[in-house]
Amino acid sequence: MAKNETPSFSRLGLAAPVLKAIDEVGYEAPTSIQANAIPALLARRDLLGQAQTGTGKTAAFALPLLSLLDLKLRQPQFLVLTPTRELAIQVAEAMQTYARHLKGFHVVPIYGGQGIETQLRQLRRGVHAVVGTPGRIRDHLGRKTLKLDRLSAVVLDEADEMLRMGFLEEVEEILQHTPGEKQVALFSATMPPAIMEVARRYQRDPVEFRSEEKTATVSTVSQRYWRVAGVNKLHALTLMLEVEDFDAMLVFVRTKVVTAELAEKLEARGFAAAPLNGDMNQAMRERTVERLKGGRLDIVVATDVAARGLHVERISHVVNFDMPYDVESYVHRIGRTARAGREGKAILFVSQRERNMLYAIERATGQSIEPMQLPSRGDIARRRVVQFQQAITEVIEEQDLDFFEEVLEGYRQEHSTGLPKIAAALAFLVQRERPLLPAQRARQDRAGRQPPTDRRPSTDRQPPGGQQPVRRRQATPRPRAEGQWPGPGNTVMERYRIEVGRDHGVQAGNILGAISNEADLEGRHVGRIKIFDAFSFVDLPKGMPREIRRHLKTLRICGQKIRLKLDSGLKSSSERRTGGSRPLGGGEPRYRKKPGKKKPGKKKSGAAGGKKKRKPRGKKPMR
Ligand code: AMP
Repeated sequence: MAKNETPSFSRLGLAAPVLKAIDEVGYEAPTSIQANAIPALLARRDLLGQAQTGTGKTAAFALPLLSLLDLKLRQPQFLVLTPTRELAIQVAEAMQTYARHLKGFHVVPIYGGQGIETQLRQLRRGVHAVVGTPGRIRDHLGRKTLKLDRLSAVVLDEADEMLRMGFLEEVEEILQHTPGEKQVALFSATMPPAIMEVARRYQRDPVEFRSEEKTATVSTVSQRYWRVAGVNKLHALTLMLEVEDFDAMLVFVRTKVVTAELAEKLEARGFAAAPLNGDMNQAMRERTVERLKGGRLDIVVATDVAARGLHVERISHVVNFDMPYDVESYVHRIGRTARAGREGKAILFVSQRERNMLYAIERATGQSIEPMQLPSRGDIARRRVVQFQQAITEVIEEQDLDFFEEVLEGYRQEHSTGLPKIAAALAFLVQRERPLLPAQRARQDRAGRQPPTDRRPSTDRQPPGGQQPVRRRQATPRPRAEGQWPGPGNTVMERYRIEVGRDHGVQAGNILGAISNEADLEGRHVGRIKIFDAFSFVDLPKGMPREIRRHLKTLRICGQKIRLKLDSGLKSSSERRTGGSRPLGGGEPRYRKKPGKKKPGKKKSGAAGGKKKRKPRGKKPMR
């Protein structure tokens, strides 16, 4: 691809229904591995790709293979081997999303630890694609319950990881069960000799893709990273906005859908923010850039494509809210700041799974990126007090206050109250909406509320906190429920509460996989999953047998014992505290009343009282 040429999905030769799906998901442009892998796989070539998680490798193989699929043939046409069951579930979920306009498409995830009966049922129904871990796939081949004779492609995903986990033998055995005429795509974060040997033995003249690690200079930008853990990213960004001294900020996300969502959320928190994405026409984009230049906007949330060539001197900060796909886009992103000799700051959000990209960036730029902490409650309080004092100075300097002095003098005489006390009462009223001392919240509460997350469709592969939930958990003997529960036609669901949530890094796929495995339940019987910070709800068919319930109580997901229990429907106070979906900081602050003092008669008093949305005042809200 020529430099500076914006790559486009529509020029890669993908099938129309697949293109439609990726447009809906919000991808604007192919990542570099996609731009290389998609044409190669569409041309039925083999592929040897060096790629880590986060580079968009799943779509790099899924999109072309789905485009080549024969929907009428209900037999496995491609097989994806993954080292872990989580990855198998994630890949299958992503595939389902990309195939949402391919009517009748079926993909089945197959992994150890899940009841074989469930898998057999799914296989018997006829599937177009299989995604699974090598051990269990081999079992099925041995039992002749999985036939691969119509297979046209095999993908080895995270091949180095499979090797490390000792799956080489299984992988080779599986490959021997596949037709001679097929494509083999191999993705691996590293390319040690053992992987090259696999490639040599099973691939024919593969198209090779290696992530480039060109050195690049970014010396005028000070770079920091924040490790995404516990706290959700929006909340973290909001805290940073409180204390970072920024003029204008450019926030990078991966999809156009997220540009709009995030800009909206920031606006709701009182910031002058707007999206910038490829769905906006040229005039709209220019208007946004002009507003940013003129100071009418302070935050622009953009995709890489939309921010290409953006030159706005005011941009003092670049926040990589979503990890860039490669070093080159990181360097391009942070180059949007420190313009015209000014200083620039870059902040990178890095989840556990993305840390390799952090190291790659450091290597390529030859600079270390310093870790940063989120501001504490004390930091925020100090900052707010300074801003408050500045606001007082400004008002004293700029406003005619005679009338107000008279009003307060009248009050002072009538109530024999000292002026400091009156000023303090006024200060209290003014800061009500945005307390000088932010309320102390429960840990989970501080960790940021998000609206409950529904499961599926989800292609977001990065577990918050990057933990590897239930990884390598082996099948444990568990009670059999087949034939008894849920029972034919049982569509009544009951809500269960489990003590694992966003804070533990859980995602819907983990809950779905673990519960369906351990309860020997088909995935379709697992209902709605809502994930909160400290816990989650999952709807399961009514009448769960006691032995399964007992078994599930002790199940661990993301290292947490889930302590499954039927939800009574009555929220305990701790649930209300941690699980609500009230917007952050939008709630009524809690004040400690002075002991012995009576409550004031009226709660709301004029402009300062009550629960009012923060108004944009001039530029940014009081920061
Ligand atoms: P992967 O490297 O496959 O784990 O993908 C990492 C993340 O990137 C996933 O959340 C994908 O949904 C997202 N993604 C993949 N390709 C693109 C793209 N072209 N544009 C935006 N996001 C993408």
